[in-house]
Amino acid sequence: MNQVIISEKVMPKKIRFGKVVSTLGPASASEEAITALATSGADMFRLNFSHGSHEEHSGRIAHVRSAEEKIGNSISIVADLQGPKLRIGTFTDQNGVSLDENATFTFHLNKIPGNTDGVTLSHPEIFKAAKVGTDILVDDGRLRFRIDSVDKDTLKTTVITGGRVTQRKGVNTPGIDLPISVITKKDEEDLQYALSKNVDWIALSFVQRAEDVRQAKKMINGRAGIIAKIEKPSAVENIESIIKESDAIMVARGDLGVEIPPEEVPSTQKKIIKMCRQEGKPVIVATHMLDSMVDSPYPTRAEVSDVANAMYDGADAVMLSAETAAGKYPNESVTMMRRIVQRSVREPGFFDSVDQLSIDDGHRSEDLAVSAIHKKAEQDGAVAIIAPSVSWNLAVSHARRRSKIPLFGITADKDLARKLALVWGVVAIHVKDVSGVHEEKLAGMVRERGGLDTSATITVLDSTQA
Ligand code: PEP
Repeated sequence: MNQVIISEKVMPKKIRFGKVVSTLGPASASEEAITALATSGADMFRLNFSHGSHEEHSGRIAHVRSAEEKIGNSISIVADLQGPKLRIGTFTDQNGVSLDENATFTFHLNKIPGNTDGVTLSHPEIFKAAKVGTDILVDDGRLRFRIDSVDKDTLKTTVITGGRVTQRKGVNTPGIDLPISVITKKDEEDLQYALSKNVDWIALSFVQRAEDVRQAKKMINGRAGIIAKIEKPSAVENIESIIKESDAIMVARGDLGVEIPPEEVPSTQKKIIKMCRQEGKPVIVATHMLDSMVDSPYPTRAEVSDVANAMYDGADAVMLSAETAAGKYPNESVTMMRRIVQRSVREPGFFDSVDQLSIDDGHRSEDLAVSAIHKKAEQDGAVAIIAPSVSWNLAVSHARRRSKIPLFGITADKDLARKLALVWGVVAIHVKDVSGVHEEKLAGMVRERGGLDTSATITVLDSTQA
């Protein structure tokens, strides 16, 4: 199939190189709200299965699909499974308890009425793998307990960081590699439901090793792409094999920043992004990106820098969580994130700076073809490349270059067009029949979608280069 190159002096205004993921929740549940978020710049919506019923998710999925129809862009949906999230039990006092530093506190495998002496932790795997001297963190790491002794059904600890703790709070065990299945019973039900709704991506929480991804792959059986969320130290240790096994990666900084020291997060983020780019796997940077916008219409300067720097690191996408799911300003958050992404990419030094994070020539057969296409496109001073029958591998081969020339991928495969909404520098255009679309028509569609000047020149590449 021929590749068409459009030459024009200015970078097309409408093109979204970096992608924006928006989490849906009570603050963004209506069709109008979701359409507004997609119009303001969201390319992908996340359904968080830690919250909400299947009925609620069904409504949101239907609204995303109707927003897609209205706007005419293919939109990705990711079902983010809760995974083996560990939690403490309940306290006799519903308001929880206050724990002092240096106090002793016991975690019990069996159900007990929780108080200042201890609470239930009904996860036998922790008791089997726990080691004296390692820490148990509760409530996103706000409270820290050091293990003093391990018994088959009690863990005696000293409170290192105290404070108030309420029932059912999340637990992290950073120093302990837990032999737990990445897919729980609840996940299995959520997964079957999500696949029945034809979601595009499944995000796996608390992946620890490549085997976890292989296990999920068997269950998903090609019906959706797999995003491995990197939020455990063991996942960071096994990152190379996890990236190879997954279709995409999420740097899930919320839990990751609890499981590893927070000052380790930025360098870990950079390392993961570079490895993903090398492998041609899309990568999302997530959590707390515009966190203050949960309550305020404006972000902090540090948050703006964080989003821009994720783009400079070479991420494909940046994600909003509570900002759009539960915040007061969901639409302002997406608009702001889109503005930051567009502005970063339009900075004259942006592509040089990303290019310096050099990667090798790649190992897919498509990498060679893409290299030849880019050489020609650069010679022609092109501002867009069209793949009249795009494949996933061609698109990710293009994306790994983080080129300033976007790829318009034409496809009759609706599911592929939706999946490509996550990929850097790719604009997917869904058509009913690829063979019926001729060069002039292609160029017209691309001009319209990319906001290109009608006087833009079109060059057709030799078909052997496709
Ligand atoms: C995270 O921990 O950063 C994350 C994205 O996961 P969740 O929002 O499900 O906690």
